Amino acid sequence: MAEKQYVYFFGEGSKDMRNLLGGKGANLSEMTNIGLPVPPGFTISTETCNLFYELGKKWPDGLWEQVESNLAKLEEKMEMKFNDKQNPLLVSVRSGAAVSMPGMMDTVLNLGLNDETVQALIKKTGNERFAWDAYRRFIQMFGNVVMGVEHEEFEHALQSMKNEKGVKYDTDLTASDLKELVSNFKAIVKKATGSDFPQDAREQLRMSINAVFDSWNNKRAISYRNLHDIPHNLGTAVNVQVMVFGNMGNHSGTGVAFTRNPSTGENKQYGEYLINAQGEDVVAGIRTPQTIDRLNDEMPEIYNQLMDIFKKLEVHYKDMQDLEFTFQEGKLFMLQTRTGKRTAASAVKIAVDMFEEGLIDKKTAVLRVEPAQLDQLLHKQLDPKAKSKADVIAKGLPASPGAAVGQVVFHAADAVREAEKGKSVILVRTETSPEDIEGMAVAQGILTARGGMTSHAAVVARGMGKCCVAGCEEIKVFEKKDYFTVGNKNIKKDDWVTLDGGTGEVFLGQMPVVDPEMSGNFGIYMEWVDQFRKIGVRTNADTPKDSEVARKFGAEGIGLCRTEHMFFESSRIKAVRKMIVARDEKARRDALMTLLPYQKQDFIEIFEVMEGLPVTIRLLDPPLHEFLPTSDADIVEIAKELDVEFDELKATVISLHEINPMMGHRGCRLPITYPEILEMQTRAIIEAAVELTKKGVAVKPEIMIPVVGILNEVKVLKEQIIKIADEIIRKNNVTLDYKVGTMIEVPRACLVADQIAGEAEFFSFGTNDLTQLTFGFSRDDSGKFLPGYIEKGILEKDPFATIDKAGVGELMKMGVSKGRSTRKDLKVGICGEHGGDPDSVEFCHRNGFDYVSCSPYRVPIARLAAAQAAIKDEVGEIFRDK
Ligand code: PEP
Ligand code: MG
Repeated sequence: MAEKQYVYFFGEGSKDMRNLLGGKGANLSEMTNIGLPVPPGFTISTETCNLFYELGKKWPDGLWEQVESNLAKLEEKMEMKFNDKQNPLLVSVRSGAAVSMPGMMDTVLNLGLNDETVQALIKKTGNERFAWDAYRRFIQMFGNVVMGVEHEEFEHALQSMKNEKGVKYDTDLTASDLKELVSNFKAIVKKATGSDFPQDAREQLRMSINAVFDSWNNKRAISYRNLHDIPHNLGTAVNVQVMVFGNMGNHSGTGVAFTRNPSTGENKQYGEYLINAQGEDVVAGIRTPQTIDRLNDEMPEIYNQLMDIFKKLEVHYKDMQDLEFTFQEGKLFMLQTRTGKRTAASAVKIAVDMFEEGLIDKKTAVLRVEPAQLDQLLHKQLDPKAKSKADVIAKGLPASPGAAVGQVVFHAADAVREAEKGKSVILVRTETSPEDIEGMAVAQGILTARGGMTSHAAVVARGMGKCCVAGCEEIKVFEKKDYFTVGNKNIKKDDWVTLDGGTGEVFLGQMPVVDPEMSGNFGIYMEWVDQFRKIGVRTNADTPKDSEVARKFGAEGIGLCRTEHMFFESSRIKAVRKMIVARDEKARRDALMTLLPYQKQDFIEIFEVMEGLPVTIRLLDPPLHEFLPTSDADIVEIAKELDVEFDELKATVISLHEINPMMGHRGCRLPITYPEILEMQTRAIIEAAVELTKKGVAVKPEIMIPVVGILNEVKVLKEQIIKIADEIIRKNNVTLDYKVGTMIEVPRACLVADQIAGEAEFFSFGTNDLTQLTFGFSRDDSGKFLPGYIEKGILEKDPFATIDKAGVGELMKMGVSKGRSTRKDLKVGICGEHGGDPDSVEFCHRNGFDYVSCSPYRVPIARLAAAQAAIKDEVGEIFRDK
């Protein structure tokens, strides 16, 4: 049997072998194959690394022999030899997994130097200083990375040498200083490890390869993989490559570049280089690098050659590349190429440009932008330059993206008052409640100490497209005293803070923000996206303004209009409270009649904006106590306003108190007790629709019953809705098509979906409640324990953000298939927060949903995610079962 191949000489592999050769190794092979100037070398496969672990950190038989034979090939090709006293071969050793894991392990450069080969290097280059510098760098890197000597030990020695010689920069040290440093470094190694610095190049290589294998499972790498969802069984490859030197004088240098601008997408190379420097000098910021354009003046030949290579690489890879290069005494070498990371604006522009240049087809263009990244294009952002210098005082959940700068307030009423004066405010609360809605609406951003990604603050802020940092457990909010604390800092009312809702960071003071760049490319790109999308994208919107924003972003209807949000406006809350404290049905009806015109007007305006697109309106959902005050002081005030006794109102408040309101008197349970609420809401919806129909405006109302779990709940309520609606339609003598459907958000509804579909004309999955009730995790309290679940790997993702496919997802599948077994053409949608999560959109696409519905600012994200799911289906990509 042929021996397994562990080692691949550059050129034996290709870019399609990244799983086996790692990203770096695969691309070095590819570049070699297309004739680019790559210093020769070889790659030890990722499989070998896995085998190393399987064998209890031992090398598989035959590996060393394969390393030796590749080394021999290298020596022959270079006409150099390891340990040679005339022409010593020097190599670099680098890790490289299939997925980029920057910083996992430092690189070892200049391997092969020892007390003898350093002399050969001096002779060969005629540059004593360079040779001793290379040797001391090697001992420093090898000593630290391979032999585990503290980096600081070498830095100390370097600093004392500089002090002793009275110089500031490393570059000011002379050849003899560096020679002395080499012997100091060797002494450090001996002292720290008890061993001499290895002189044999083969021994150095063997140790370095081991160190790279070991680094796969160092703490840093493991936590990086945990953080980025990278499987632990991929292993890393090891790349051994002939050294080229950018620090051999003024005709040498090193640089990094992108083939296009990674920030704007402009089709112009973007990068930096340093003359007379080695790779780590560019990153270390010892000297300021020059922009790549300058190279055209300094070394036009290298520049032109580089530009040709950039072009060649882009045509070959059909994507923007991020590359590293070095030139040694006027000769250019490529050290790395990979797909370049980019901002959303850049990603969109590059995708559009590359299609127009004929480099990629439209499908590829649509697959090129990460859906979640589009967020960046839809909200204000913190100026990245200022951000890199600022102090983060706390970090919460990135609940709703964008940037917000403002003066702190602790009460919704203060927010309104201060905003009226023209101030920018940040509303800071322990948690928000529906009562805070007006304050949230005028605030630049919202910061809460408690609550998860589906807490009230998070959901409402996302709906408003407003920056929100939620569940920031490090802060303690003292609303009554108008301040919050973090660590030993006290932040008072009117102090300035800045929030980054995309990262959850909180900063003290005012930081500059930049407007999102909404270039024309974005519009073009979204048109393409819709050419592939199979499922509809609607929005969750409660106001005409939200609806308008959502339509601008391409929403094809409203999937959820939460009517309770309309009840909280100051002009209406009094009538709502009157309705709640009413002693009998008559008084309740009177109060509801005051609300009717408001609700009707809301619906008229929303229908008008939506111009005949479907509008799903949900009947009142939250328990009634949410509309009443809790503190005695507030009860006194409101009792006065409502003209009732304090004791009476207090008694009502107490009677409405529930131990577990999320599972209490809410949703469809409310109109079963108080049919007149449903009556008023149905009347408002249908009268609004009738009025517009008469004016020739198309309307498509869909009335939705929440928190359903029992067939008879739907039966009873649907009958009432139809009775009222049909009577209004008949009286007005118009033709109006409306539908009555249900939310599916209680696990039992999924189990009996076949029964419910007998009555419901559509299903909309309320995955917020469905997740809450399936897991038994409170939506409002899960912030206390869910982060720990994710950290410990008990759950892979927050199930309130991404559908838990194994549990909640199975219930959804059951709901859809049972529902359609009764009603073949049952329209099925989703309106929980998951409707804007790309992974969940893909799930809905694959499981026969008709549409997803999400907050206005996530509509473009859902559109792109839906299109990508459809394209992946078409090209037959095997979906990873995540
Ligand atoms: C849901 O439960 O998923 C839903 C959309 O309703 P709400 O968030 O208003 O409870
Ligand atoms: Mg719900």
